[in-house]
Amino acid sequence: MKFEFSEEEELLRKQVRQLGREKLAPLTGGDEDVDRPEVVSQVQKAMAGQGLFELFVPEEYGGRGIKSVCLCIVREELSKFSSVADGLFAELGLGIYGVNVVGREEQKRKYLPRVARGQVLASFAMSEPNAGSDLAAIQSTAKLVDGHYVLNGEKVFATLAGVADIYTVFAKTDPSKGRQGISAFIVERGTEGVEVGKMAMMAGVEYTIKLTDCRVPKENLIGNEGDGWAIGLGTLDLMRVTVGAEVLGKAQAAYEDAWNYAHQRVVFGRPLVEYQVTQFKLADMATSIEAARWIVYHAAYLRDEGKLPRTVKYASMAKLFATEAASRVIDEAVQIHGGSGVTRGVKVEALYREVRLPRLYEGTSEIQRLTIFREMSRGY
Ligand SMILES: Cc1cc2nc3c(=O)[nH]c(=O)nc-3n(C[C@H](O)[C@H](O)[C@H](O)COP(=O)(O)OP(=O)(O)OC[C@H]3O[C@@H](n4cnc5c(N)ncnc54)[C@H](O)[C@@H]3O)c2cc1C
Repeated sequence: MKFEFSEEEELLRKQVRQLGREKLAPLTGGDEDVDRPEVVSQVQKAMAGQGLFELFVPEEYGGRGIKSVCLCIVREELSKFSSVADGLFAELGLGIYGVNVVGREEQKRKYLPRVARGQVLASFAMSEPNAGSDLAAIQSTAKLVDGHYVLNGEKVFATLAGVADIYTVFAKTDPSKGRQGISAFIVERGTEGVEVGKMAMMAGVEYTIKLTDCRVPKENLIGNEGDGWAIGLGTLDLMRVTVGAEVLGKAQAAYEDAWNYAHQRVVFGRPLVEYQVTQFKLADMATSIEAARWIVYHAAYLRDEGKLPRTVKYASMAKLFATEAASRVIDEAVQIHGGSGVTRGVKVEALYREVRLPRLYEGTSEIQRLTIFREMSRGY
């Protein structure tokens, strides 16, 4: 068995780690930074300067090609230092997948080179007040009228919509066809009929998007009418495994802080780390991280290899296992910190809140389990 990172992948990790430590961590401090355009723009520039956005674009449009392992490396390293940077990266991946896969040539030429240069931020607007896990239940509509699609509806949890340049919006062009009637559109920031609102979260900020007779040129339809369902599932199939990498980075960061704290903190006359209970905790944390690292990178590797007909099951397993393992690891890191672990400004406190969210987005843990079971039943 040969399963190791290439020299290029190791270099990418080193590059992103250095960027994260030296530039991104000092730029971003709090959860709310994602809602501050000046901070987002500095983070975006720093990431663009290192060519990170090129990883979402095929070579013929100015990118470096899309490799799941590379996306995981970037997310693992970014998330250790800045959830804002990781969020920008991930949401772009979610938002631009459809154009990459089924976009028309014109659309690709219009957006992809700019995406590669780091000049475009995207938001992925699928969920609605009455449709999260059950995406086929979305109620937003799009009607073709005089060369324009007219969009109506409401989106929730549209990450980054407050600062994004484009929103990838899912709406039904033919509600009678259920999921086959869903289409995806690019809606540019500032389009008339778009109203963006805020949702305060336990970590960070999310956005609502209200669409009221919002007219977009018919050229903004991604692919063909009815392609929305496949675009949505394909996007999640690519990005879910990277959520595993995101939480892996957070778990590793929490573990390192807990390790250091256990060596510094003296209780009853001895450093915390000298107590076997602490040693056991650190050993269990390291074991969970190691297991999560393997399941995540193995899933990414299988996807890149392209030898299996489907890798959906592995992506869901990676997301499910890594998000649940990271939650346990970070909970223990907080415990090792004692009261200081729940004090604002202490890194593990922020990580504790942040790590709760990935068990919900891009499919809850329950939806991952259903997906895994469905794939097993089909024989994949
Ligand atoms: C921080 C954050 C960021 C997000 N970012 C985005 C984004 O950028 N774009 C976007 O479109 N959406 C985004 N979402 C939305 C996210 O994808 C949904 O919240 C998620 O899919 C769950 O949907 P829901 O909240 O409607 O819960 P529901 O679907 O109402 O589920 C409620 C509960 O029921 C369970 N459940 C649902 N169906 C079943 C079933 N069949 N069997 C057993 N249990 C079930 C769920 O697991 C959950 O525990 C984000 C959410 C969060 C929290």
